[in-house]
Amino acid sequence: MGEYSVWSVLKGGFTAQRHWKPAWRDPDPKPAYDALIVGGGGHGLASAFYLAKLHGMRNIAVLEKGWLGGGNTGRNTTIVRSNYMLEGNAHFYEKSLQLWEGLSQELGYNVMFSQRGVINLAHSDAQMDAYARRGNAMRLNGIDAELLSREEVRARAPMCDFSDKARFPIHGGLLQPRGGTARHDAVAWGFAHAADRLGVDIIQNCEVTGIDVEQGRVTGVQTTRGAIKAPKIGLAVAGHTTQLAEMASLRLPIESHLLQAMVSEPLKPWIDTVVTFGAGHFYISQSDKGGLVFGGDLDGYNSFAQRGNMPTVEHVIQCGVALMPGLKRLRLLRHWGGVMDMTMDGSPIIGRTPVEGLYLNGGWCYGGFKATPGSGWVFAHTIAQDRPHKLNEALGLERFETGALLDERGAGPVPGWH
Ligand SMILES: Cc1cc2nc3c(=O)[nH]c(=O)nc-3n(C[C@H](O)[C@H](O)[C@H](O)COP(=O)(O)OP(=O)(O)OC[C@H]3O[C@@H](n4cnc5c(N)ncnc54)[C@H](O)[C@@H]3O)c2cc1C
Repeated sequence: MGEYSVWSVLKGGFTAQRHWKPAWRDPDPKPAYDALIVGGGGHGLASAFYLAKLHGMRNIAVLEKGWLGGGNTGRNTTIVRSNYMLEGNAHFYEKSLQLWEGLSQELGYNVMFSQRGVINLAHSDAQMDAYARRGNAMRLNGIDAELLSREEVRARAPMCDFSDKARFPIHGGLLQPRGGTARHDAVAWGFAHAADRLGVDIIQNCEVTGIDVEQGRVTGVQTTRGAIKAPKIGLAVAGHTTQLAEMASLRLPIESHLLQAMVSEPLKPWIDTVVTFGAGHFYISQSDKGGLVFGGDLDGYNSFAQRGNMPTVEHVIQCGVALMPGLKRLRLLRHWGGVMDMTMDGSPIIGRTPVEGLYLNGGWCYGGFKATPGSGWVFAHTIAQDRPHKLNEALGLERFETGALLDERGAGPVPGWH
């Protein structure tokens, strides 16, 4: 019987549900571990889970400066997809999507993964051509993709503006039926729970303030809860990647930007798929609580502030109303921001660093939530074997020296444009 199952709830009915144990322990840090993961977001926790489960490394810890999932994991719009075109990205994100499909069972924790489909809208013939090309590349890689006509989009998303007056007429769209959404907090909690059960120490309120390097090799970290030694250290700190790398004297091809999202008051079921606008930065899905979740573009300047600003909210809502006029009758419930580590080519960095024993998992730009299980899976392999897995070979830091960039969007070397 699973720890979290209907049978547990029924059994608990006889004991006023007093049988539940904390989902993870709250240990004090030990003076030394075999490996440390810095960052208790989805990526750090997934990495620790797969290190323990697949590579037999149990004497490890995750160090989190605040609370689990308090970074971008708990701030994102939860869209999961693998509609990538370039070889270096496509197989990695598809592996991640395959892991999502069995994740609740693997973790023994419901991450509420909902494959409701993701539709990218096209508003011109040129955009339809680009989506046909992307869809074909995906299908050649064994990834599901369907090119939708205008009428097929209308059948799935009738709330979009299909009138003659539409400011951005819809020509069609690209659908990935296996894409969808998941419950972000549950992803962090599920990985934490499963990693803890394998013996991983998850230590919250423990900020890493320094990285110890001796003769080009990492030896441990300084934290607000004392020094901790380890021969292997993985950084998975998203928006703070540059700050942590600087502690080991590394300067990375990453800029930090702010990204916002917002949610409306709850509604009855209104939209049962994910739609992204092709003529501006706006995307929408409906949460299980009924709120419409919207995301937008970057704020446009570098920042480490974890809060949003009103001009971006206005811009997102303008795009939303242009696409779905009915939205103008809604009230916004709240909005928030997260710090994005934007790379020069828009693709993540997962691999070794020039410092022996120090590994990097970052540069997730807008899209790291969908990568959470895949990222942890390949990062664990990279740390345990001291070499990348085939799936993250193209995602190494070296590509910024060799020029083998993965510019999925074709936006050039400008982090804010990816
Ligand atoms: C508004 C918004 C919308 C998004 N929408 C999507 C989406 O729809 N789909 C998608 O795929 N992605 C999306 N993303 C991106 C996605 O959220 C991130 O790429 C992903 O969650 C990164 O996960 P992580 O575990 O690497 O980072 P985080 O969850 O940020 O975890 C990093 C952790 O490191 C900790 N940390 C930092 N410094 C230190 C230190 N010195 N010591 C110890 N701990 C430290 C932080 O407290 C944090 O908890 C969105 C992001 C935002 C902000």
